[in-house]
Amino acid sequence: MIKKQFQAESKRLLEMMINSIYTQREIFLRELISNASDATDKIYYKALTDESLTFNKEDYFIKITADKANRTLTISDTGIGMTQEDLENNLGVIAKSGSLAFKKENEAKDGHNIIGQFGVGFYSSFMVADTVTVISRPLGSDTAFKWESEGADGYTIEPAGKDSVGTEIILKIKENTEEDNYDEYLEEYRLKSIIKKYSDFIRYPIKMDITSS
Ligand code: ADP
Ligand code: MG
Repeated sequence: MIKKQFQAESKRLLEMMINSIYTQREIFLRELISNASDATDKIYYKALTDESLTFNKEDYFIKITADKANRTLTISDTGIGMTQEDLENNLGVIAKSGSLAFKKENEAKDGHNIIGQFGVGFYSSFMVADTVTVISRPLGSDTAFKWESEGADGYTIEPAGKDSVGTEIILKIKENTEEDNYDEYLEEYRLKSIIKKYSDFIRYPIKMDITSS
């Protein structure tokens, strides 16, 4: 499979994220939950104007699944999803609003408080994961695509299977090192406290499922 390259700017941001010694790594979860919520909002607003769509509140939620044995943390949503093109355009290039603000600010200031202040977006996943896989099926389509990246050297996109509309972000959580603990991002109490701290205002239910073997 052909590995595609990130744009130069995206690559720089990505490298900053990967090599971040930042203590607020935990904000990756805020970013992914906020994206999941935005994607659900998009279906909600579409349903307001599109008579063929109905929005049943019970059908929309965000789910966090931690699998300790496989070291994966999955954030899934029932939002609008992404086409193959969206995956390419939204994840393959530097993100708009949040990340761009981060990048500009960071040129002037020391990076340390910046991540907490601005939305740094999807790439913050690489602060805690060494592989990020995105499986997405867009509204109105029965095909899904899988985007996958191990960081700055590029990403792949291929067809995938997915039963329902929405997006699944699968983080392969880094191994602990002498200095850094990553196991904590697979622990229920830790995930709950991060969610409470940053994502308490999210208007969709956040469900959690932790397995240890
Ligand atoms: P921002 O949220 O500021 O636009 P991000 O880096 O967080 O930047 O996300 C980039 C883009 O990727 C989003 O604008 C959106 O189009 C797309 N995206 C990310 N996560 C999801 C998701 N869970 N569902 C649908 N689209 C998403
Ligand atoms: Mg975002």
